[in-house]
Amino acid sequence: MAQDNYERIVEKISKRSGLGKDEIEAKIKAKRSKLSGLISKEGAAQVVASELGISFEGENLKIDELLPGMRNVNVVGKVIRISPVRTFKTKNGEESKVVNLWIADDSSNVRSVLWDTNHVSLVEKGEIKEGVVVEINNGAMRDNEIHLGNFSDIKVSDETFKEDELVTEKVFHKKKISDLKKGESASTRAFVVQAFGPRYFSVCPECGKKVESEGQDFVCKTHGKVIPKKKAVMTLVLDDGTDSIRAVMFHESLRGFGIEESEIENQEILSNKKEDLLGKEMIFSGNVRINNFFNNPEIIVEDAREVNVDEVIKELEKE
Ligand SMILES: [Zn+2]
Repeated sequence: MAQDNYERIVEKISKRSGLGKDEIEAKIKAKRSKLSGLISKEGAAQVVASELGISFEGENLKIDELLPGMRNVNVVGKVIRISPVRTFKTKNGEESKVVNLWIADDSSNVRSVLWDTNHVSLVEKGEIKEGVVVEINNGAMRDNEIHLGNFSDIKVSDETFKEDELVTEKVFHKKKISDLKKGESASTRAFVVQAFGPRYFSVCPECGKKVESEGQDFVCKTHGKVIPKKKAVMTLVLDDGTDSIRAVMFHESLRGFGIEESEIENQEILSNKKEDLLGKEMIFSGNVRINNFFNNPEIIVEDAREVNVDEVIKELEKE
């Protein structure tokens, strides 16, 4: 199994500082407890690194090594997806453009957001397109995205990647619930201790966005009057012994529980299934965000799957 990015950061700090890995890890642990666990392991590692006078700025990093808050990020990756170019008006009324690129290397993949019209024009001219390897310099991390402004640079690189070593699937880092941080894509092994819902809402069949009801009709902002699709959402509380967290399960992710589409659509059947979920231990993967109403973290589940016993044993042997 590949080294996780925390281990890789520790190794880098160790190499650069000449201190042993154990010593570095002890410093990280001390830093975290001083900050009452409010900082992730990786974040604490960054603080320790800078206290030791080590900076990763300006260094070429693997995508998996990028951390929220990093500046002057340099990274090379192959473009695996590009969004349409979007035009918008800035605060002072000028027209500007933005485009998203997803780039992958052999460690992970990341969304890159291009705000500079010169960079956007490289996409419009087709110089940067899917399958092209690009080099990004001076990017800045916002949560888990690289943002490129007019101080940043992006150009076509002649570096190559073997197709089969590219990591193009979304990467979820394995975390304990108490370690989950906002903006993170993570997976966690936990028990379902409470289940609420389902609630249903209506979406546009074309774009999947929420529709508004106007009298008898349902209206999508983009597609006008539509016959909406009904989607379910359930809220769970997960607990892994370190902490608990709310988990939002939208329609498709409920399939991970082995619930059929026709059952998800039926409120009565789905309500009855709730009982079966309680006490289940599964691996939940998704994105951590702050719930606006409760102002605490919750995970938007993208994937829920059964625990693979062999994998768990391997993990335990590693510890
Ligand atoms: Zn629509």
